[in-house]
Amino acid sequence: MKPEETEVWDPMPPVVSPGDGLNPPDDAVILFGGKDMSAWDIPANTQWIVENGVVTIVPSRDRQEKPVWIFSKAQFGDIQLHVEWRAPAKVEGEGQRRGNSGIFLPGKYEIQVLDSYRNHTYVNGQCASVYKQTPPLANACRKPGEWQTYDIVFKAPRFFQDGRLESAAWVTVIHNGVLVQNHVEIKGATTFIGHPKYVAHPLMQPIGLQDHGDAVSFRNIWLRAL
Ligand code: MG
Repeated sequence: MKPEETEVWDPMPPVVSPGDGLNPPDDAVILFGGKDMSAWDIPANTQWIVENGVVTIVPSRDRQEKPVWIFSKAQFGDIQLHVEWRAPAKVEGEGQRRGNSGIFLPGKYEIQVLDSYRNHTYVNGQCASVYKQTPPLANACRKPGEWQTYDIVFKAPRFFQDGRLESAAWVTVIHNGVLVQNHVEIKGATTFIGHPKYVAHPLMQPIGLQDHGDAVSFRNIWLRAL
């Protein structure tokens, strides 16, 4: 064989200008860029306040008891997602009652957002867990009040026409630059009580953010459709 016989020239990968610092790559879909929450459907029973480029959940005892979700207006399948979040600097609760929010990947698969800095809870419910499924490989939490990053690669599940699962969802999560979920198989939609199971859904779904009653903030939410 000649060296040329194993060279692939075509098709060429698309050119993407990478982000620099806080800026996303030029092919990203911006879900929150600092100005407004117009990319989201926000139900009447949850409040998200935008101020100085940051959106913060208005805390509430009610939603600590019963969380509410907001969903993106656009729908997605396989994605690369970047989210920056911050738990409140003032520590009030403990365990699951401390900076609790969550990222719902398309189809309702939750990556937990929680202030897990010196805060013990069930490990498959701590920060960066696939909630109630898979604990993170490491606890890479920064202190409360500091900005944290999630970079998530998500492969959506596929279903046969008759509703049976064809292929599971898979997820990789990097938390503050630390690999915490390494191409992990998701076992089904997130559920608080009972075991997860898949319920067939179309490929394209919205992304969700959880209001669990705590004043968690977000900035720079963007994704690339894969
Ligand atoms: Mg949560």
